[in-house]
Parts: sequence; structure tokens; C-alpha cells
Amino acid sequence: MPKAKSRSTESADSPKSGGKVPAERIADLAAASRILAAQGVVDGFGHVSMRHPTAPDRYLMARALAPALVTPKDIIEYDLESNPCNAAGRPSFLERFIHGEIYKARPEVMAVVHSHSPSVIPFGLVDVPMRAMFHNAAFIGAGVPVFDIRDKFGATDLLVSDGEKGVALAEIMGRQDVVLMRAHGSVACGASLEAAVFRAVYTEVNARIQHWTAALGDGAPIAALDPEESKLADKVNLGAGQRAWHLWRTLVRSQVKW
Ligand SMILES: [Zn+2]
Repeated sequence: MPKAKSRSTESADSPKSGGKVPAERIADLAAASRILAAQGVVDGFGHVSMRHPTAPDRYLMARALAPALVTPKDIIEYDLESNPCNAAGRPSFLERFIHGEIYKARPEVMAVVHSHSPSVIPFGLVDVPMRAMFHNAAFIGAGVPVFDIRDKFGATDLLVSDGEKGVALAEIMGRQDVVLMRAHGSVACGASLEAAVFRAVYTEVNARIQHWTAALGDGAPIAALDPEESKLADKVNLGAGQRAWHLWRTLVRSQVKW
């Protein structure tokens, strides 16, 4: 086969790249996938993306692959319609529209995590709101809306597999940092990759603690963070959360060489 052919399988109408991304940031994104797997937030499914650091109308995300296996060479760039710029034959996640539509609707969001983490799912199935059980989950104090795909689309396979469903999800999410998806999972976002990963991890941890607390209290009122405490604690977390990222990132670095 001629050499030129193996260079790219992109069609002529693939969107243009937003420009080169530092290798260390690509490595951080690949590491984020592995961190979320190690923390029990994602398993064979789920994904994390980050907005292109210098081209706000592009984002980066792994090819369709189990998160614990992602390496930098698996990262694909997309436009905000979730068309790949450089797939070169690599398959895309069906639910990438979650990411593209949130980036479109929320200019301040720089990273998005979608997961099916098990402790969170019950809160999308019953009418019990998720509340901030402890300071690390203070971002939950702002409220966690629930997206029910049936409301707009009737019976579906539950997947956010096109732009229209992504828009509907982003609308329900509004200005919040976390949204639950009925009978499916959740989405967490943040103004940095580190913040989105932190929130995804602590959404799952908070859900576990709320289940334990509800069982322990057996119907007694729960002394969760109030809105003012939530605001104050979240501000601290956005700085101190870097310590968690540093730990998780260091562990990945010690396990894999890219
Ligand atoms: Zn999903």
C-alpha cells in the first residue's frame, strides 16, 4: 500500500484541528480516565473529556475504549457538534454528544465526566434529592437536577447518542456542576480537568455516604451542608482538591510509561 494512504483516513470534510495541545495535557486526560477507573467511578464504560486549551470550539476525548486502558495515543479531537477532527479510523464513543453540548451551553466548563457509577443511580430513580453529606462534596449543595430522557424522547435505549439529546441534557443541567440521568448515570463538570474528576469521584462517594446516613437515621432528618456552608466549602475544595489530583496523577504515572 502506498505510504501516503496510511497517513490519514479522514474525509475531506472533517473539521480542522484547533491546534497542537501540549503532550503533558494529553497525558493528563488519558490519566484522568485511569484515575476514574481506579476510583470506581467508571468501569468498562464511561468517559472524560476536556476542552481544547486554546480552541474553545474543540474538545478532546479518548476513542471508544474502556477507561482503564486509555493512553495518549487514543485521544481524539472533536468539534462541538462532536465530529472527529483526527479519528483516523478510530471509533468514537456513542455518547460523546453529552460532552459537545455541555461545552456549547457552558463556556466556563473545561472538562466533563460521564459515568454510570452505581451508588449514584438510585437518586435518579426515586424522589429523594442528593444532598451534600460532607465538605468534599460541597458542590452538591447547589442542587443536583435529574434528566429523564423519557420526558422529551419517550421510550429510548437511554443513551445520549445524538446532539438533540445532548442539548436536552445540558438544558436540565442548567448552571449546576452535576446532573443525574434517570436509569443511566450522571455527569459532572468543572472549570478544569482536575475539578471535573474531583467532582465525579466525590459524587459517587457522597452517594454512598447518603445511603449509609439514610439507613442509619432510619427516616430521621439529615444534617447535610446548608447552602452557605456548601458555597464556603466548595471554594476551599477547588484549591485543596489539587492534592487529591496530585496523588491520583502520581499513582498513574508510577504505573504506566507513555
Ligand atoms: Zn452512559
